[in-house]
Amino acid sequence: MRISLRGISKRFGNLKALECVSLDVADRELFFLLGPSGCGKTTLLRIVAGFTQPDAGEVWFGDRCLNGVPPHKRNTGMVFQNYALWPHMTVAENVAYGLEVRGFKRDERDRLVNEALQTVRLESVADRRPSELSGGQQQRVALARALVIRPDVLLLDEPLSNLDARLRLELREEIRRIHDQTHITTLYVTHEQKESLSMADRIAVMRSGMVEQVGAPRAVYSKPATRFVADFIGECNWLPGTINANAAGTCLVATDSGQLEVHDAARFNDRQSVWVGFRPEAVQFGVSQVNQFRARVAQVTYLGELEQYVLELPGGITIKALDANPVEVRARNTEWPVYVLPRNVFLFPRSD
Ligand code: ATP
Repeated sequence: MRISLRGISKRFGNLKALECVSLDVADRELFFLLGPSGCGKTTLLRIVAGFTQPDAGEVWFGDRCLNGVPPHKRNTGMVFQNYALWPHMTVAENVAYGLEVRGFKRDERDRLVNEALQTVRLESVADRRPSELSGGQQQRVALARALVIRPDVLLLDEPLSNLDARLRLELREEIRRIHDQTHITTLYVTHEQKESLSMADRIAVMRSGMVEQVGAPRAVYSKPATRFVADFIGECNWLPGTINANAAGTCLVATDSGQLEVHDAARFNDRQSVWVGFRPEAVQFGVSQVNQFRARVAQVTYLGELEQYVLELPGGITIKALDANPVEVRARNTEWPVYVLPRNVFLFPRSD
């Protein structure tokens, strides 16, 4: 089911929780709303569910405008971070509840409950109560309960945030697998960048009630539209710079650490103030024809599969760097050649 949000705005008193948000979620997509606390993700999800009314804008499922349609007539399944299971009912009864309310007959109900429990791999605990399950299992019951009614749209609000790190990783894979099996259009709210990068078909990065960028995980990570997106979806080093001689295709940016060659700078004017950004893993140790620096090791942390560095560049600027599969030992206060390829450098306007 395609979801279309058109110009959605919502205020709470003086606070603009959402400002003219427009988004299209394709049929069968696993779509993430990602952003820091308070950016309006949950409000947008609640508007799609019908629990909150927008001040302006429209919600469409396919060709149907849902403004004014109550939540129980939208055919959505919802999963919250706190599971919200009935403690006095068994797993099977919890899952069956939505079908009972909808008047399904016993045989059909049992068949659908069994199918939903199979989907989340919990057939063996159908007769237990929620208190006899782990957090991860309880959240899978909540998923089965949402899936059993065959929703057109599945809405997940931070479903993994109550789980410990190991279970979170396990359930990430589980939800992705269930989505690949059911293909239900899913809107998933989180503030965890790794969760969205590893699971999403596409991500909308939100900030202060607005959408800053929509794209596939790789596109958002490697081509962030704003400095905020670059920082929120991963780590980034930033150097203030000035555009210096913008020629076709490439340009040079002057920074306190030296000149950098960059790509895709056509949107900038000569002498314009910019932020030059590159990710820690884009810093490579070794010699190159372009963007070569001498770096002093200010801090080094060995983590087995990788080594983390804080490096000092000429001009006193410190940056972070990562070495995957570290072999070479680089002690504090030693100097090493490093470089950053032009294609890995981001540029954003800087107002002085
Ligand atoms: P979190 O990750 O912390 O849940 P969020 O991105 O989901 O954050 P929302 O819950 O949508 O953000 O809230 C957006 C803003 O609207 C916040 O500043 C919040 O305090 C405010 N807000 C949300 N619901 C209400 C309400 N019912 N009454 C007043 N203010 C609200």
